[in-house]
Amino acid sequence: KPRSKGNRKKSAVDFTKVDAKLLPTVMIVGRPNVGKSALFNRLIRRREALVYNTPDDHVTRDIREGIAKLGDLRFRVLDSAGLETAASSGSILDRTADLTGSVLARTQFAIFLIDVRAGLQPLDVEVGNWLRKNASGVRTILAMNKSESLDDGGGLLIAEAAEAHVLGFGDPIAISAETGLGMAELYETLCPLLEDYMLQQMNDQTIEEEKAVETEENKLPLQLAIVGRPNVGKSTLLNTLLREKRVLVGPEAGLTRDSVRAQFNFEGRTIYLVDTAGWLQRCGQEKGPASLSVMQSRKNLMRANVVALVLDAEEIANKRCSMKHAEVAIARQAVEEGRGLVVIVNKMDLLRGKQNMVLHDRVIDAVPKEIRAVIPQVTGVPVVFVSALEGEGRIPLLDQIVDTYEKWCLRLPTARLNRWLRKVMSRHSWKDQATKPKIKYFTQVKARPPTFVAFKNGDTQLSDSYVRFLTKSLVEDFNLGGIPIRLMQRTVP
Ligand code: GDP
Ligand code: GDP
Repeated sequence: KPRSKGNRKKSAVDFTKVDAKLLPTVMIVGRPNVGKSALFNRLIRRREALVYNTPDDHVTRDIREGIAKLGDLRFRVLDSAGLETAASSGSILDRTADLTGSVLARTQFAIFLIDVRAGLQPLDVEVGNWLRKNASGVRTILAMNKSESLDDGGGLLIAEAAEAHVLGFGDPIAISAETGLGMAELYETLCPLLEDYMLQQMNDQTIEEEKAVETEENKLPLQLAIVGRPNVGKSTLLNTLLREKRVLVGPEAGLTRDSVRAQFNFEGRTIYLVDTAGWLQRCGQEKGPASLSVMQSRKNLMRANVVALVLDAEEIANKRCSMKHAEVAIARQAVEEGRGLVVIVNKMDLLRGKQNMVLHDRVIDAVPKEIRAVIPQVTGVPVVFVSALEGEGRIPLLDQIVDTYEKWCLRLPTARLNRWLRKVMSRHSWKDQATKPKIKYFTQVKARPPTFVAFKNGDTQLSDSYVRFLTKSLVEDFNLGGIPIRLMQRTVP
């Protein structure tokens, strides 16, 4: 029984918002007089039909095209009726052969119409064979038109449907282009097919965009900012990284010039050192012209891809907390601005020897803990212990910086993310199934830093705790420690 309009379920994809060019295409096929034009007219209603010509050796053949409206579905519909009227000779196979060109290439679905009043004809079988041979990639739905004429309670329709099975296109749906009978069934049949098509399209589109951007991004050099309070060893570290004495190193606080700009290579990758050295020296200490310079340094920090925050191991060993107010502020600012973060604990050489073992272990233990506490929004911030003065830990540090940069640039394929999503959604247990959020689709819209969008059905908001759960799972499952990933939610278009 056809359902009333009001009962029609709403499609998960909002087809009204899809650009007409991207809508799926449905072609109406069938032998002459089955009612193709009638169905076409019903689907496009009073909308403009676009008639275009297919110039041919002898005749001009018309295929009408329009935007079909069926409930909340929208699709491009092609009426192939013009073909038979234009060609007077030849079998239906010859005539429809013209469809194999551009029209068929851009058609994803077909409605194969038969006339239930006339019964199954040899020409119907011919059309079926033609479809199988030439349109194997086109998903075809069989429909018995003019069903209102046999609507006697169902007996005859069931017999006709059984007969139509020989065509090999499954169960036919009974419709009437004239009265609108069976349009709800047509909707129910088309909806999941068109929905899947659109989601797949969106998927392919993002993958294409991902590929294009990725190759561009891979050419970009890594911009590294080394930040920290005076005397923690930033200049020394810079020299160690550069392996040359380019920066003036001295014991007095504030000696570092803030105009240092350097570039070096590590394992084939260019690394730019963005100058931020002056920032913490000046922060809050000077007023007037100097604050301009503070702003400048801060802008530099935000230009960086990876921020390396340097702490002094000896200071940490002698105090209870490892990060001072300014250091916490800069670390927070870095992640809020979406920079990758690496923490460097310098001067580890001062904690060598048996007498320092307790202090040494305390530092190694305390720093990651404290970072977790002060920057809870980013999990797994890498901590590297080095001695800049002795050049110890240079390679592990650079490995960590490059690794953080690569994660920061990471683009996860949509298909992989959606496999992950299904797994992770089943991992979370729901006391009340009704409150379980329905995320239809998950995709990464941007890198540097990785930014994800969860597409959900309807207007329900994902709760903060669920967003935290998803973010945490993303970081854990894709090894994104130290990366301030972003997660947004949208309603499926
Ligand atoms: P086409 O050649 O396949 O495009 O068929 P048309 O749309 O031109 O229709 C052929 C004939 O069938 C016309 O006389 C239509 O009025 C009639 N027709 C189309 N749909 C229906 C229907 O659902 N019920 C009835 N009873 N007649 C229909
Ligand atoms: P900046 O102000 O952060 O640039 O710090 P500097 O690089 O100027 O270093 C301040 C002082 O700490 C200098 O006397 C350095 O020699 C010393 N220093 C830097 N790195 C280390 C290290 O790894 N071990 C030790 N023992 N001293 C260091």
